[in-house]
Amino acid sequence: MRRDIAIDGPSGSGKTSVGSCIASEVDLMLVDSGLLYRVFTAAYVDQFPSDRCVQHDRLAGILERCISYEVGGTVLFDGQVLGLSLQDPKVDRLVSPVSAVPEVRAAVNRELRRIAALHDVVMVGRDIGTTVLPNALLKVFITADPDIRAKRRVVQLERLGAPVDYEAVLSNIRERDAIDSSREDSPLRCTEDYVKLDNSADGPDGVVQAILSEYRRRLEHVV
Ligand code: C5P
Repeated sequence: MRRDIAIDGPSGSGKTSVGSCIASEVDLMLVDSGLLYRVFTAAYVDQFPSDRCVQHDRLAGILERCISYEVGGTVLFDGQVLGLSLQDPKVDRLVSPVSAVPEVRAAVNRELRRIAALHDVVMVGRDIGTTVLPNALLKVFITADPDIRAKRRVVQLERLGAPVDYEAVLSNIRERDAIDSSREDSPLRCTEDYVKLDNSADGPDGVVQAILSEYRRRLEHVV
């Protein structure tokens, strides 16, 4: 019986830190699917630094290469860690258009499903409950105000030593939300089988506690 937890939601809603607490509490492997989309995008930016839009023929060459998600969250591209930071603003700018390409989604989903076949997981992303793990034991959708999400992202980027402009971060978050929710292939959406939680109202501790208690309640019914 699968025991996976799918956590979806928009950029900066706090999914990854919540997912990380949950994974260590219930002893599952954390998989941050956004990192895989970021690796393909960083590889693209590395190879074609002056492109402002994604060119599909160039992307096709990158998709022929091998991507692998290691336990602990390191993602390898052709067996190596990429030089460009996955959180670089250039990656933030192109990651949603890259992720909207069906061939990219197929390549990422192959790797996500390979991992999920080996481990029970807490998997975090945009389409985990709808597409990647439709049979997850628990599906959670985490939201938060765009303003709070942008502030959280600013703190993350500052920690990485990047110079950050709040307005630019907020505008990137809004743009990514729009692309992620409106693309044709597996858009971000909260279907009725999700438990919906608000990270700005309940705070991360409240969200973590709500997930843990619902997950434990469901586990009792599957054993
Ligand atoms: O979660 P994170 O912000 O790192 O994700 C980066 C981008 O990857 C998102 O804005 C989205 O375009 C894409 N993504 C996706 N599907 C997922 C995870 C991430 O399309 N399951």
